Amino acid sequence: MKLYEFQAKELFARAGIPTPRGRMVSNPDEAADAARELGRCVVKAQAHAGGRGKAGFIKLADSHDQAKNLAAGMLGQTFKGFKIGRLLVEETVHFTAEYYLAVTVDRASKSPIMIASAMGGVDIEEVAASSPDKIANLVVDVAYGPLDFQLRALAQRAGLDPAATRQFVDIARRLYRVFLDSDASLAEINPLMVTAEGIVIAADAKFDVDDNALFRHAELLEYKEESEEDPIEAEAHRRGVTYVRLDGDIGVVGNGAGIVMTTLDIVNRVGGKPANFCDIGGGANAERVREALSIVLMDDKIRGVLFNVFGGITRGDEVAKGILEATASLDIKIPMVVRMAGTRAEEGLKLLEGSSLVPVAEPVEAARRVVALAKGA
Ligand code: GDP
Ligand code: MN
Repeated sequence: MKLYEFQAKELFARAGIPTPRGRMVSNPDEAADAARELGRCVVKAQAHAGGRGKAGFIKLADSHDQAKNLAAGMLGQTFKGFKIGRLLVEETVHFTAEYYLAVTVDRASKSPIMIASAMGGVDIEEVAASSPDKIANLVVDVAYGPLDFQLRALAQRAGLDPAATRQFVDIARRLYRVFLDSDASLAEINPLMVTAEGIVIAADAKFDVDDNALFRHAELLEYKEESEEDPIEAEAHRRGVTYVRLDGDIGVVGNGAGIVMTTLDIVNRVGGKPANFCDIGGGANAERVREALSIVLMDDKIRGVLFNVFGGITRGDEVAKGILEATASLDIKIPMVVRMAGTRAEEGLKLLEGSSLVPVAEPVEAARRVVALAKGA
């Protein structure tokens, strides 16, 4: 689950990390009120995506009138596929430096890792690509957490102003704490600003929580309700279907994460673009297959569907029944290719005879077929 900037900042503030004064607003009048209270301010569109600054979704306002106009201009707009419904209006920070600080999980060391740089701000990706030496890391031993001397060394390696070290260490320690306590997968501050007065403050905030840990975070549930998930993913979640939306046009359904991932790769390799990841899991019955297919078809970009089922505990005839029930009740106009092997695959394929479904025995060939048929559809 991704938190909005204003939510992440709430969390940070509770953890004792300095953040600018600000208010979340959802209409231009509220933005004007907030600006009256705060004085010169920044109007920041709230979206689950970065790069707002460069796209004109972060703007400075000198007056409440201007804040109101900026708010009216941003609300209702779409940024990277997200409709802007909320803004954060914050006091303007006058900064002399923009640092970067994050905690995430490092797969290589299987540990939390802290990342810092003196060159934060909107071009951090570029810095990472062109001068990786400007970015310093600290792999954290979870048994101890980051120790102060390690954080001081991190600040030094990252090239921070030594005068900011004490505040940086304090913020980094708190950021690690809130990352760990919330079962987060990412806690990022970019930029971590140094003000003209020498105060270090979190000017932006990104926070991702591991969904699998949400059950033990009652304090984060309010954010869950507010978070604008993809509507299809949300519906899939309600119905217990494992589904991730991608941006292509070939729907992919399989019985297990491994086979679905492989199928995505195969579709890509034959020149297609998967529209989703959909895993019906092991031992799926007809009803489950019907649910999964109806979820996949909710995406109006779909031009074809590929089923890839390897029967172990999943039975081919059950999957075939589900597909047939779904096609009977859903009025499907796009081509659907079915590849099936293993337990009761023959029975399954037999059931599909005479239907509009295209059975193909070999997976790469099945992917080619669905991609070709989708082009014609
Ligand atoms: P992002 O582009 O979505 O990551 O949004 P950020 O919150 O990081 O803002 C992008 C940039 O806007 C920052 O790097 C700053 O240069 C600028 N910015 C954001 N807040 C302030 C502020 O309070 N004062 C000033 N002067 N600039 C700001
Ligand atoms: Mn940022």
